[in-house]
Amino acid sequence: MPEPRRSDGLSRLAAFIAQPLTHYSKARNFDFGPTRRGNVSLLSPYVRHRLVLEQEVLDATFQRHSLASANKFVQEIFWRTYFKGWLEQRPDVWLDYRASVAQLIKSLDSDPDLLKRYSAAVSGKTGIDCFDAWISELEQTGYLHNHARMWFASIWIFTLRLPWQLGADLFLRHLIDGDPASNTLSWRWVAGLHTKGKTYLALSANIARYTDNRFNPEGKLATSAPALTESSVFPLRDLPLAQTLPNDDDYGLLITEEDGCPETLALRTKPKRVLAAVATQQRSPLPVGEPAREFAAGAVADALRRATQHFAVDGQLAETENWGNLLAEWAAQNNVSTVVTAYAPVGPVAEILATTKTHLQKHGVRLLQLRRPYDSVTWPHARRGYFKLKDKIPSLLETLGIESEDEFQDSRSEAV
Ligand SMILES: Cc1cc2nc3c(=O)[nH]c(=O)nc-3n(C[C@H](O)[C@H](O)[C@H](O)COP(=O)(O)OP(=O)(O)OC[C@H]3O[C@@H](n4cnc5c(N)ncnc54)[C@H](O)[C@@H]3O)c2cc1C
Repeated sequence: MPEPRRSDGLSRLAAFIAQPLTHYSKARNFDFGPTRRGNVSLLSPYVRHRLVLEQEVLDATFQRHSLASANKFVQEIFWRTYFKGWLEQRPDVWLDYRASVAQLIKSLDSDPDLLKRYSAAVSGKTGIDCFDAWISELEQTGYLHNHARMWFASIWIFTLRLPWQLGADLFLRHLIDGDPASNTLSWRWVAGLHTKGKTYLALSANIARYTDNRFNPEGKLATSAPALTESSVFPLRDLPLAQTLPNDDDYGLLITEEDGCPETLALRTKPKRVLAAVATQQRSPLPVGEPAREFAAGAVADALRRATQHFAVDGQLAETENWGNLLAEWAAQNNVSTVVTAYAPVGPVAEILATTKTHLQKHGVRLLQLRRPYDSVTWPHARRGYFKLKDKIPSLLETLGIESEDEFQDSRSEAV
């Protein structure tokens, strides 16, 4: 399984793109089981925590492949970009999800039928063998294949008739790539809430085929998937303006689990000190799984180690999730008036930073979040459906300075 180190992510990326990516397009939908994952990249925990950047994945891909041959893989990378940009511009979807999870967890105490069905599902006792196996795989490894995630979510919603928000919460607590945008919006997509009215129905024949006949839940699954509906309307907001770091600042650098690549941030001068903090438990009111917790903590520790070496400054890992007091004390001790961190997209870390910012202001310290150029270029195109963004991929690659000249690249990848 993935180790939470940038070096491991970069090695995986190199090994993955050394193969012909046409194989990926044909084989990616097969879930051969936890011990046979060679048909997918397993890059998601690295990209989610930005131990490896989307831009790096795309740059490396086009050094060996053309857009034609890497098309499917590139489109998948842009699915992540799309979901992040979309949620960034509709943050109320996240707030609504958070409120529903809190409410539903409370209602488990007062609704014995819901509690019974929920408990059977999360303890892997539904009698649907694939579903019960995926629960145990999720808890033990922190990873599920994309197709298994789709089947799982569909069975959760349409066969077990459980609230989608509790399923999304389960994933967010256990996945080592647990991501507010990809996760919440994928669950909403399966439920027919993201693309309104369009749902995903898990079929036993499809599960049998794409699990290489490891499972066949014939006769046990819902035969229809009526779209869920909701009364809330989620307004579109403009993206917050990107902040920049003034030239002459004495600042401290904060590393969070949202961005494990501080050495590549647009910092003109080196920070005075580095502080790293984790907030993994803030993903949910319920306990976060060990693999997810360990991956996030490992990613932050790895980023801190690299940052202190790269900038040749001292750093420390914070043990508390009360960032307000922590950062105010740390700024005072180190005599810095600005705390700089990589931009945290909508999610638990952004929530914490919002309250921390107010707390720091009272102590005369400002908090700056630096957005990466990749996000500033791509997110504005994620206002509607994915296909609007997909059509823009060639021009976005050009704007990002990523070379994808088909003929030249094709001949190079064939020669390798
Ligand atoms: C219900 C559900 C919940 C999900 N929750 C998460 C989540 O919390 N975090 C998360 O990172 N992904 C989530 N996904 C998306 C997807 O399943 C994973 O990103 C993918 O399985 C990761 O494995 P991989 O790196 O081997 O993927 P590959 O097939 O090798 O894909 C390459 C990269 O493309 C991106 N990608 C691929 N598929 C998707 C997708 N459907 N949506 C967004 N990005 C994608 C990822 O960055 C991935 O690393 C979810 C999908 C579903 C259906």
